[in-house]
Amino acid sequence: MRALASRIVEFYRRERRDLPWRRTGDPYAIWVSEIMLQQTRVATVIPYWERWMARFPSVGALAAAPLDDVLAAWAGLGYYSRARNLHAGARWVAEERGGELPRTAGDLRAVPGIGPYTAGAIASIAWGERAPLVDGNVARVLARVRGLDEDVKSTAGQKRIWAEAGALMAALPATMAPGDLNQGLMELGATVCTPTAPACLTCPLSGPCVARADGRQDELPRLPARKAAADLRELASVALWIERKGAVLFARRPAGGLYGGLWELPQGDDAAAAARAVGVKLRGATRAIGEHRQVLTHRRLRIALARATVVGAPRADGTYTAVRWCDAAAAARELGVSSATSALLALGKAPRRR
Ligand code: SF4
Repeated sequence: MRALASRIVEFYRRERRDLPWRRTGDPYAIWVSEIMLQQTRVATVIPYWERWMARFPSVGALAAAPLDDVLAAWAGLGYYSRARNLHAGARWVAEERGGELPRTAGDLRAVPGIGPYTAGAIASIAWGERAPLVDGNVARVLARVRGLDEDVKSTAGQKRIWAEAGALMAALPATMAPGDLNQGLMELGATVCTPTAPACLTCPLSGPCVARADGRQDELPRLPARKAAADLRELASVALWIERKGAVLFARRPAGGLYGGLWELPQGDDAAAAARAVGVKLRGATRAIGEHRQVLTHRRLRIALARATVVGAPRADGTYTAVRWCDAAAAARELGVSSATSALLALGKAPRRR
């Protein structure tokens, strides 16, 4: 284990990519980067992270910002629950700890939204604690190098991977930084031991790697079978394009649940229900604009977009928590909107360009 840990750190020192959050020891900046990097590629994250740090340079600045500003700064990164959790976590740290993040992985777990992975990342990189971490990249590398047959997403598999990561960290030579070991594992997973085409010929772990010795790189890590898109439950709805004086009506979903806290075009099971959801009635028939389909992890979305004229003053009636008019072109910049809403906005704007 000691030799394995050393190889990983040496690889990291030699090959590490120069990323902006690697030039800082600020735990808040590392926290932000780690949350953004979950489910999003490095190249996409870089400009978002730089803008975020300029706009919310500290825990206090983020805690003081309205949620709308935070969601708008996140717009385009997707999985908005990450932004909401980051904001809630910053508020907790500001209120409970005067803006200072806890200094150990164990104490970091008390911050809302910080799980074992993020706690390990912040504690090892910012504070130099021997705290292990496991994400998808790390699980893949460890499962292959150690030849682990468990489903890495199962409880038993997670336990095993965390134990392996902990043993590796415990074996790290005292002259090496725990943060370099964790980042080395993540870097290997991102750049060498990739899901479909691991570069075993140039990999620094090819000697001790069990998967390579057994020719099982394609079999490991074992993952649970994914449901085919056709087997996922379909959510069908109608979204209304209601325009007044060049602005379009948006409604905000309640916090929690799918797309919680985000703005969208009013939606319902049918056009009348969508109008009712914002306290108005349809005047005449709607005009179909198009349809957006999207496959999410657990369901499929099918949203029909229709242009509607309505009677009454829009208001939030409980289905939504707020309504507002906004220029369609500016919405993605000014409001937090999901990728589905971005697609609907593109559909709605398209006919007018013809
Ligand atoms: S030798 Fe191949 S399978 Fe093993 S860790 Fe390296 S890249 Fe991954």
